[in-house]
Amino acid sequence: MTTTTSLTNPTAQLSRQVHRAQAREAARALARLTPQVQNRGLTQTILDAASAKAAAAAQATTLAKAQLAEAELQAWRKDLDARLEVIFAHPEQNLGEIEEQLARSVKEPLRLLAQRAAQVKANAVPCRCPKCHRELKQQRLLCRTIHSRFGPVTIWRRYGWCPRCGQWHFPADYALGLGRKAPASPYLQEISALLVSKMPAEQAVLVAERLGLDLSRCGLHQEAHRQGLKAQEWRAQFVGQLDTWEQIQQVARAGDGGPPTQPFTLVIEIDAWDIRERDHWGKTQELRQQGKKPERWHWVYMATVFRLDHRGQTEGKRAVLTQRGYAATRLGVEALSAQLYREALARGLGQAPLVLVIADGALWIWNLAKDRFPQARQRLDLFHAEEHLWAVAHDVYGHGTPQAQAWVAPLLQQIRDDQTVAVIASLAELKPRLLEAQQKKVQTQIEYFEHNADRMKYKEVLEARKAREEGKATAEQKQLANHPVGSGAIESACRQYQCRFKRTGQFWTTPGDEALMCLETLWRNGRWDQLYPHARSSATLN
Ligand SMILES: [Zn+2]
Repeated sequence: MTTTTSLTNPTAQLSRQVHRAQAREAARALARLTPQVQNRGLTQTILDAASAKAAAAAQATTLAKAQLAEAELQAWRKDLDARLEVIFAHPEQNLGEIEEQLARSVKEPLRLLAQRAAQVKANAVPCRCPKCHRELKQQRLLCRTIHSRFGPVTIWRRYGWCPRCGQWHFPADYALGLGRKAPASPYLQEISALLVSKMPAEQAVLVAERLGLDLSRCGLHQEAHRQGLKAQEWRAQFVGQLDTWEQIQQVARAGDGGPPTQPFTLVIEIDAWDIRERDHWGKTQELRQQGKKPERWHWVYMATVFRLDHRGQTEGKRAVLTQRGYAATRLGVEALSAQLYREALARGLGQAPLVLVIADGALWIWNLAKDRFPQARQRLDLFHAEEHLWAVAHDVYGHGTPQAQAWVAPLLQQIRDDQTVAVIASLAELKPRLLEAQQKKVQTQIEYFEHNADRMKYKEVLEARKAREEGKATAEQKQLANHPVGSGAIESACRQYQCRFKRTGQFWTTPGDEALMCLETLWRNGRWDQLYPHARSSATLN
């Protein structure tokens, strides 16, 4: 191929060598010119670029319809035919290849349509301040490239200065749901948030790539973090809806699904787990030399809330919840308390005749329950109570010995029969016969049972379950049999969060984990569409 043919035929493919040779020749020609001529050449280049840009802007800002030109449609058809031909020529290629090729073939036409549709939308937005709605001054045009589901799209938007707010505004960016500086479209914002709240960012990039999305260009991790901050803002506003008594009344009346037809029991389970954070990024070496550890463990406080009538059983008799709410935070018990209260109101706290709080024996939990849900019935998780008895049995009689088993068996039964007083008496009786260290341990357990005695009522539920199994349950017992005696629902929730936030070798910062945890909770609470309204339309459209 020669340089001459390539000039007469601009679509011809030039080899890299030819390109280089042309560039060298052009540089030599430029060097031969006088400085004045050189400057004139440069000026002309700049002017040409400016007029091309002005033409593009003029064309974009007058666009009124998003469509493909006949030539573009034909190019797409040609591309599609070529791809299909390749598939048909290869008998070993299956439906997977057909899916891949078709998806690739439509990407460019869809990108063009997305760009034009966004442009039409931008053109229709009045150039007013999004905050105070006044006409913006010193209006100008600027283009911006956004990464969309179909690839990069370039949009021209009018912008201007609001003297009242003292800010430059791009009203079309607000209308299109674009971040101030971030390059991701709302769909890619959502997918970044979804993927990174479910898996580490480095895996998410690869998964996205297989789904045909180029998220690496959006700075996946930063984008997810930005979305997490947005989720936190939304949550603050959601929780803040309870600032006045009238607001609380209003929210309590409404709940999430309107007034219920049947009275129901609302169950609240609370727990905590720890997360590893690195407090001083970049100073690990320095801190180690000073003999300090660079990481710390912090508590993540969690709660779940559900209606008992939303609990069912799988065919394998496993309990499942069809609807439930979550609260999770690294920001302390107070923060959990506010989030949980709001979630409980949304899930029917205002309508439930009975509220049941179930947890292990941690003091902060019962303080929270007393503070936020003073009318609620409190129940100590049965399995935690049993574990405390087993701890004494193993300590005194040896781990797994028949003596330990023999000592603990009647006491376990007493717990199930609501005879906590008898359990405490047995422990008190055991104590004087022990060594001093063991006495201390037993005393701790005595205090544990004394503090929790009122919360250890299991008998009626266990009896109701037995009656149900024997087919003798009364209507009231049928209801009671469904009451949980353990806090399995929150324990499984904690484990699920830990699958993402407590991996080997993983370190967090408080702003980092809180933001992602907030996204995860928003998703689980079924409120994803509050942040991503387009997600709602994808569920209803077909
Ligand atoms: Zn303004």
